[in-house]
Amino acid sequence: MAKRVYEAWKGNNIFFICGRLIFGPDAKSLLVTLFLIIAPVAVFCVFVARHLRHEFSSYNAGYAILVAPIVFTIHVLVLLLLTSSRDPGIVPRNLHPPEEEFRYDTSASVEVGGRQTPSLQFPRTKEVMVNGLPVRVKYCDTCMLYRPPRCSHCSICNNCVERFDHHCPWVGQCIGLRNYRYFFCFVSSAALLCIYVFAISAFYIKVLMNDHQGTVWRAMKESPASVVLMAYSFISLWFVGGLTGFHLYLISTNQTTYENFRYRSDNRINVYDRGCINNFLEVFCTKMNPSKNDFRAFVTDEQPQRPPMHTPRDTDPEDNNNTGDNRRMKVEDDMDIGGDLLKISQRHNIEDIEADICSRGSDGLNHNLSEAVDSVLGSDRRAPVVQSDSWEIGNEGKYANPKET
Ligand SMILES: [Zn+2]
Ligand SMILES: [Zn+2]
Repeated sequence: MAKRVYEAWKGNNIFFICGRLIFGPDAKSLLVTLFLIIAPVAVFCVFVARHLRHEFSSYNAGYAILVAPIVFTIHVLVLLLLTSSRDPGIVPRNLHPPEEEFRYDTSASVEVGGRQTPSLQFPRTKEVMVNGLPVRVKYCDTCMLYRPPRCSHCSICNNCVERFDHHCPWVGQCIGLRNYRYFFCFVSSAALLCIYVFAISAFYIKVLMNDHQGTVWRAMKESPASVVLMAYSFISLWFVGGLTGFHLYLISTNQTTYENFRYRSDNRINVYDRGCINNFLEVFCTKMNPSKNDFRAFVTDEQPQRPPMHTPRDTDPEDNNNTGDNRRMKVEDDMDIGGDLLKISQRHNIEDIEADICSRGSDGLNHNLSEAVDSVLGSDRRAPVVQSDSWEIGNEGKYANPKET
């Protein structure tokens, strides 16, 4: 029987309810987070709010003190679930490298038998225009695609995630395009919950002082739970309150956590900043894009043929003749690679391209390269199988010469 997408998933995610819920590989930490939220609220309800029911002239006000945190905690937990159990904006992997991007790279030629031989490879970066300014996007070896602007590969989940903010170990999920607003609402709501628990616990201490005409110490002895809750919510507030403030700043300037940490010292222009109000509207009021992944869809049997690209990660052990020739230098994810990258762009004439490659290559490489080009051209003629994203970087004339920035 055909497998479903979530059963053949190449990322490190964990799926529940037959692929309806997707978590990061560290989803277990979610249990700790749940405990850290539910336990103090339970203690608060039993040891503090319950005793305050009859402290108000209005009977309902007393019960509201008890019911409000329960309802609000449910609200926080729903936000937590929305953050951690849905697709954060994973860009589906390509089944093979984007064929139209094959370049003939003279700068990355390899020494073989004392002779310089060229290598077929991709440019590591591309330039796309965002709001009229050039933005460099990088090629992801794992996902075999050029990442859309603001997309980054999460090493924990092993996926490229759109508008990648960070991987949050507390929610066990990437924070990206599709769950950032829930994440922010979760963190800010948790901060409000801390303030509420702290304030009402302090109020209960005050009530005990008045009731027994005692000192604050005596009141604190009477309700140690209030003291513990005040300390706990105070410390938690530093964490979630600080995080709320930080993300308010990030939203107002339209940055992600990743961009803020990575480009902080660069002083580069933020091409995404559209003004404070528009930045907030962008995060909270734009329509959420549907997921690009249908985790429950059946995987098609068709396995498109990959061009014979040899990378250090997918070298075919049987093909020892050209592993050295076509070896692509391992390039760190965020390394800047420049250089002249000549392009085999117009594939009208196979002989021209082969002749071009042969004239530059060594004898031993000719056969393999011509095979490579054959395969590229052949599969191109068969059917273009490269997945296209919603953004366009296809204008080769425009972006043919990547600039170093
Ligand atoms: Zn990736
Ligand atoms: Zn992640």
